[in-house]
Amino acid sequence: MSNFRSIEATFKGSSFSMVGDGFRVSNYFPSGNNLSQRISPFILLDYNSPYEFPASATQRGVGAHPHRGFETVTIAYDGYVEHHDNAGNHGIIGPGDVQWMTAGSGVLHKEYHEKSFSERGGILHMIQLWVNLPKAYKMTTPKYQTLLSDQMGKVELPNQGGVVRVIAGEYEGVKGPAETFTPLHLFDINFNLNGQAQLTLPVTFNSAVLVLQGKVRINQTQDRSETDFVLFKNEEGRILIEGLTDSAMVLVLSGEPINEPMVQYGPFVMNTRQEISQAYEDFQTGKFGNPNF
Ligand code: MN
Repeated sequence: MSNFRSIEATFKGSSFSMVGDGFRVSNYFPSGNNLSQRISPFILLDYNSPYEFPASATQRGVGAHPHRGFETVTIAYDGYVEHHDNAGNHGIIGPGDVQWMTAGSGVLHKEYHEKSFSERGGILHMIQLWVNLPKAYKMTTPKYQTLLSDQMGKVELPNQGGVVRVIAGEYEGVKGPAETFTPLHLFDINFNLNGQAQLTLPVTFNSAVLVLQGKVRINQTQDRSETDFVLFKNEEGRILIEGLTDSAMVLVLSGEPINEPMVQYGPFVMNTRQEISQAYEDFQTGKFGNPNF
Protein backbone atom coordinates (compact mmCIF):
# COMPACT_ATOMS: atom_id res chain seq x y z
CA MET A 1 0.00 0.00 0.00
CA SER A 2 1.65 3.21 -1.09
CA ASN A 3 -1.09 5.79 -0.80
CA PHE A 4 -1.22 8.08 2.18
CA ARG A 5 -4.24 9.24 4.11
CA SER A 6 -3.88 12.95 3.58
CA ILE A 7 -4.06 15.87 5.95
CA GLU A 8 -7.35 17.77 5.92
CA ALA A 9 -6.36 20.61 8.24
CA THR A 10 -3.72 21.65 10.76
CA PHE A 11 -4.50 24.04 13.56
CA LYS A 12 -3.35 25.35 16.92
CA GLY A 13 -5.30 25.58 20.15
CA SER A 14 -6.84 28.68 21.64
CA SER A 15 -4.90 31.09 23.82
CA PHE A 16 -4.38 29.77 27.33
CA SER A 17 -6.96 30.01 30.06
CA MET A 18 -6.99 28.75 33.62
CA VAL A 19 -9.28 26.00 34.86
CA GLY A 20 -9.50 26.78 38.56
CA ASP A 21 -5.97 27.62 39.69
CA GLY A 22 -4.46 24.30 38.64
CA PHE A 23 -4.70 23.84 34.89
CA ARG A 24 -3.42 26.20 32.23
CA VAL A 25 -5.04 24.92 29.09
CA SER A 26 -5.39 25.62 25.43
CA ASN A 27 -8.64 24.38 23.88
CA TYR A 28 -8.24 22.65 20.52
CA PHE A 29 -11.90 22.26 19.60
CA PRO A 30 -13.48 25.64 20.33
CA SER A 31 -17.23 25.56 19.80
CA GLY A 32 -18.52 27.34 16.75
CA ASN A 33 -15.81 26.16 14.38
CA ASN A 34 -17.91 23.31 12.95
CA LEU A 35 -15.35 20.74 13.98
CA SER A 36 -17.73 18.69 16.08
CA GLN A 37 -18.82 16.42 13.23
CA ARG A 38 -15.24 15.93 12.09
CA ILE A 39 -13.83 14.94 15.45
CA SER A 40 -16.74 12.96 16.93
CA PRO A 41 -16.65 11.01 19.27
CA PHE A 42 -14.14 13.46 20.76
CA ILE A 43 -15.75 16.63 22.08
CA LEU A 44 -13.06 18.63 23.79
CA LEU A 45 -9.30 18.59 24.03
CA ASP A 46 -7.76 20.83 26.67
CA TYR A 47 -3.99 20.78 26.54
CA ASN A 48 -1.86 21.92 29.47
CA SER A 49 1.48 22.00 27.63
CA PRO A 50 4.48 21.86 29.99
CA TYR A 51 4.14 24.67 32.50
CA GLU A 52 5.82 25.19 35.84
CA PHE A 53 3.46 25.87 38.71
CA PRO A 54 5.04 27.52 41.74
CA ALA A 55 4.73 25.85 45.13
CA SER A 56 1.35 26.45 46.72
CA ALA A 57 0.21 26.11 50.32
CA THR A 58 -3.32 25.30 49.14
CA GLN A 59 -3.99 22.41 46.81
CA ARG A 60 -4.30 23.75 43.26
CA GLY A 61 -7.13 22.62 41.05
CA VAL A 62 -10.84 22.90 40.51
CA GLY A 63 -13.47 22.15 43.14
CA ALA A 64 -16.62 20.07 42.91
CA HIS A 65 -18.48 20.42 39.61
CA PRO A 66 -20.92 18.23 37.69
CA HIS A 67 -20.75 16.31 34.41
CA ARG A 68 -23.33 14.25 32.53
CA GLY A 69 -23.52 12.44 29.22
CA PHE A 70 -19.87 11.82 28.33
CA GLU A 71 -16.44 10.72 29.61
CA THR A 72 -13.46 12.75 30.80
CA VAL A 73 -10.06 11.27 30.01
CA THR A 74 -7.05 12.80 31.74
CA ILE A 75 -3.58 11.89 30.53
CA ALA A 76 -0.59 12.95 32.67
CA TYR A 77 2.86 13.37 31.17
CA ASP A 78 4.50 15.39 33.94
CA GLY A 79 3.22 16.20 37.39
CA TYR A 80 0.59 14.48 39.51
CA VAL A 81 -3.17 14.89 39.29
CA GLU A 82 -5.72 13.80 41.89
CA HIS A 83 -9.41 13.06 41.43
CA HIS A 84 -12.33 12.56 43.80
CA ASP A 85 -15.95 12.05 42.84
CA ASN A 86 -19.18 11.57 44.69
CA ALA A 87 -19.60 8.07 43.28
CA GLY A 88 -16.80 7.24 45.74
CA ASN A 89 -13.92 7.08 43.30
CA HIS A 90 -10.50 8.47 44.06
CA GLY A 91 -7.27 8.28 42.08
CA ILE A 92 -3.85 9.84 41.69
CA ILE A 93 -2.07 9.71 38.37
CA GLY A 94 1.51 10.59 37.48
CA PRO A 95 3.65 10.53 34.35
CA GLY A 96 2.27 8.07 31.80
CA ASP A 97 -0.94 7.33 33.71
CA VAL A 98 -4.53 7.99 32.63
CA GLN A 99 -7.81 8.54 34.45
CA TRP A 100 -10.87 7.56 32.45
CA MET A 101 -14.07 8.76 34.12
CA THR A 102 -17.48 7.91 32.73
CA ALA A 103 -19.79 10.66 33.96
CA GLY A 104 -22.83 8.92 32.48
CA SER A 105 -25.99 9.87 34.35
CA GLY A 106 -24.06 12.34 36.46
CA VAL A 107 -21.26 12.83 38.94
CA LEU A 108 -19.73 15.65 40.90
CA HIS A 109 -15.95 15.58 40.88
CA LYS A 110 -12.90 17.54 42.02
CA GLU A 111 -9.73 17.70 39.98
CA TYR A 112 -6.58 18.75 41.79
CA HIS A 113 -2.85 18.68 41.75
CA GLU A 114 -1.86 15.84 44.06
CA LYS A 115 -1.26 17.35 47.49
CA SER A 116 2.52 17.02 47.80
CA PHE A 117 3.06 17.96 44.14
CA SER A 118 0.97 21.07 44.76
CA GLU A 119 3.01 21.89 47.85
CA ARG A 120 6.38 21.58 46.17
CA GLY A 121 5.30 22.89 42.76
CA GLY A 122 6.70 21.68 39.47
CA ILE A 123 6.03 21.12 35.81
CA LEU A 124 2.57 19.97 34.85
CA HIS A 125 2.07 18.48 31.40
CA MET A 126 -1.32 16.91 30.82
CA ILE A 127 -4.29 16.57 28.53
CA GLN A 128 -7.97 16.34 29.20
CA LEU A 129 -10.06 14.84 26.48
CA TRP A 130 -13.86 14.60 26.54
CA VAL A 131 -15.30 11.57 24.77
CA ASN A 132 -18.96 11.56 23.86
CA LEU A 133 -21.36 8.78 24.82
CA PRO A 134 -24.08 7.63 22.43
CA LYS A 135 -27.70 8.14 23.46
CA ALA A 136 -27.95 4.56 24.66
CA TYR A 137 -25.24 5.16 27.29
CA LYS A 138 -25.64 8.81 28.26
CA MET A 139 -27.42 7.84 31.47
CA THR A 140 -25.24 4.84 32.26
CA THR A 141 -23.99 4.36 35.81
CA PRO A 142 -20.89 6.49 36.49
CA LYS A 143 -17.65 4.58 36.27
CA TYR A 144 -13.99 5.25 36.88
CA GLN A 145 -10.87 3.62 35.48
CA THR A 146 -7.34 4.32 36.69
CA LEU A 147 -4.98 3.18 33.95
CA LEU A 148 -1.40 3.09 35.12
CA SER A 149 1.56 3.47 32.82
CA ASP A 150 2.66 -0.16 33.15
CA GLN A 151 -0.81 -1.39 32.10
CA MET A 152 -0.64 0.31 28.70
CA GLY A 153 -0.18 -1.80 25.58
CA LYS A 154 3.35 -1.32 24.28
CA VAL A 155 4.65 -1.77 20.76
CA GLU A 156 8.30 -1.18 19.91
CA LEU A 157 8.80 0.56 16.58
CA PRO A 158 11.15 -1.03 14.04
CA ASN A 159 14.88 -0.20 14.21
CA GLN A 160 14.72 1.10 17.78
CA GLY A 161 12.50 3.84 16.43
CA GLY A 162 10.61 4.38 19.65
CA VAL A 163 7.49 3.04 21.33
CA VAL A 164 3.73 3.19 20.90
CA ARG A 165 1.75 3.17 24.17
CA VAL A 166 -1.81 2.02 23.63
CA ILE A 167 -4.34 3.54 26.05
CA ALA A 168 -7.51 2.42 24.23
CA GLY A 169 -8.22 0.39 21.15
CA GLU A 170 -5.24 -1.27 19.56
CA TYR A 171 -2.09 -0.79 17.56
CA GLU A 172 -0.84 -3.71 15.46
CA GLY A 173 -2.95 -6.10 17.49
CA VAL A 174 -1.75 -4.87 20.89
CA LYS A 175 -4.68 -3.65 22.94
CA GLY A 176 -4.92 -0.83 25.44
CA PRO A 177 -6.53 -1.28 28.89
CA ALA A 178 -9.35 1.30 28.65
CA GLU A 179 -12.89 0.04 28.31
CA THR A 180 -14.80 2.27 25.90
CA PHE A 181 -18.46 2.55 24.90
CA THR A 182 -17.80 3.13 21.20
CA PRO A 183 -14.90 1.90 19.07
CA LEU A 184 -11.89 4.19 19.32
CA HIS A 185 -8.12 4.16 19.39
CA LEU A 186 -6.08 6.36 21.67
CA PHE A 187 -2.32 6.06 21.83
CA ASP A 188 0.81 8.09 22.15
CA ILE A 189 4.05 7.55 20.30
CA ASN A 190 7.51 8.43 21.57
CA PHE A 191 10.03 8.60 18.74
CA ASN A 192 13.74 8.23 18.76
CA LEU A 193 15.47 10.31 16.12
CA ASN A 194 14.25 9.17 12.67
CA GLY A 195 12.03 6.48 14.18
CA GLN A 196 8.99 5.72 12.05
CA ALA A 197 5.45 4.62 12.87
CA GLN A 198 2.84 3.59 10.38
CA LEU A 199 -0.86 3.94 11.23
CA THR A 200 -3.63 2.14 9.42
CA LEU A 201 -6.81 3.47 10.95
CA PRO A 202 -10.34 2.58 9.82
CA VAL A 203 -11.38 4.89 6.99
CA THR A 204 -14.68 5.75 8.70
CA PHE A 205 -12.95 6.74 11.97
CA ASN A 206 -12.28 10.44 12.51
CA SER A 207 -8.54 10.58 13.03
CA ALA A 208 -6.06 13.17 14.23
CA VAL A 209 -2.61 13.63 15.72
CA LEU A 210 -1.54 16.21 18.28
CA VAL A 211 2.19 16.88 18.37
CA LEU A 212 3.15 17.02 22.07
CA GLN A 213 6.87 17.39 21.80
CA GLY A 214 9.49 18.11 19.14
CA LYS A 215 9.00 17.83 15.42
CA VAL A 216 7.65 15.11 13.16
CA ARG A 217 7.33 14.51 9.43
CA ILE A 218 3.98 13.22 8.23
CA ASN A 219 3.55 11.22 5.04
CA GLN A 220 7.15 11.88 4.04
CA THR A 221 6.69 15.52 3.12
CA GLN A 222 4.78 17.50 5.73
CA ASP A 223 6.60 18.70 8.82
CA ARG A 224 4.66 19.53 11.94
CA SER A 225 5.86 20.67 15.34
CA GLU A 226 4.69 20.78 18.92
CA THR A 227 1.16 22.04 19.57
CA ASP A 228 0.13 21.37 15.95
CA PHE A 229 -3.18 19.48 15.76
CA VAL A 230 -3.39 17.53 12.52
CA LEU A 231 -6.77 16.28 11.27
CA PHE A 232 -6.77 13.62 8.56
CA LYS A 233 -9.29 13.09 5.77
CA ASN A 234 -11.56 10.08 6.01
CA GLU A 235 -10.02 8.30 3.07
CA GLU A 236 -8.16 5.08 2.42
CA GLY A 237 -4.48 5.06 3.11
CA ARG A 238 -1.85 4.80 5.76
CA ILE A 239 -0.35 7.55 7.83
CA LEU A 240 3.42 7.57 8.17
CA ILE A 241 4.98 9.57 11.00
CA GLU A 242 8.71 10.06 11.47
CA GLY A 243 10.43 11.65 14.46
CA LEU A 244 12.59 14.51 13.22
CA THR A 245 13.87 15.27 16.71
CA ASP A 246 14.90 12.86 19.42
CA SER A 247 12.04 12.30 21.90
CA ALA A 248 9.42 13.70 19.56
CA MET A 249 6.02 12.68 20.89
CA VAL A 250 2.52 12.62 19.44
CA LEU A 251 -0.95 11.67 20.66
CA VAL A 252 -3.12 9.78 18.17
CA LEU A 253 -6.92 9.98 18.40
CA SER A 254 -9.16 7.94 16.13
CA GLY A 255 -12.77 7.00 16.67
CA GLU A 256 -15.99 5.95 15.03
CA PRO A 257 -18.21 9.03 14.80
CA ILE A 258 -21.38 9.07 16.88
CA ASN A 259 -23.95 10.12 14.31
CA GLU A 260 -26.53 11.63 16.66
CA PRO A 261 -27.54 15.20 17.47
CA MET A 262 -25.27 16.65 20.16
CA VAL A 263 -25.94 19.59 22.42
CA GLN A 264 -23.04 20.70 24.60
CA TYR A 265 -23.61 23.24 27.30
CA GLY A 266 -21.15 23.88 30.09
CA PRO A 267 -20.37 20.58 31.82
CA PHE A 268 -23.15 18.61 30.11
CA VAL A 269 -23.24 16.92 26.70
CA MET A 270 -26.62 15.53 25.69
CA ASN A 271 -28.69 14.88 22.55
CA THR A 272 -31.29 17.62 22.98
CA ARG A 273 -31.67 21.04 24.61
CA GLN A 274 -34.44 19.62 26.73
CA GLU A 275 -31.98 17.09 28.19
CA ILE A 276 -29.55 19.92 28.95
CA SER A 277 -32.30 21.77 30.84
CA GLN A 278 -33.09 18.56 32.68
CA ALA A 279 -29.41 18.17 33.63
CA TYR A 280 -29.35 21.69 35.13
CA GLU A 281 -32.59 21.03 36.97
CA ASP A 282 -31.32 17.72 38.32
CA PHE A 283 -28.06 19.34 39.39
CA GLN A 284 -29.82 22.24 41.10
CA THR A 285 -32.26 19.99 42.89
CA GLY A 286 -29.52 17.76 44.29
CA LYS A 287 -30.11 14.74 42.04
CA PHE A 288 -26.40 14.47 41.29
CA GLY A 289 -25.96 13.41 44.91
CA ASN A 290 -24.08 14.67 47.89
CA PRO A 291 -21.96 17.75 47.05
CA ASN A 292 -19.89 17.25 50.22
CA PHE A 293 -17.54 14.38 49.54
MN1 MN B 1 -14.38 18.02 35.31
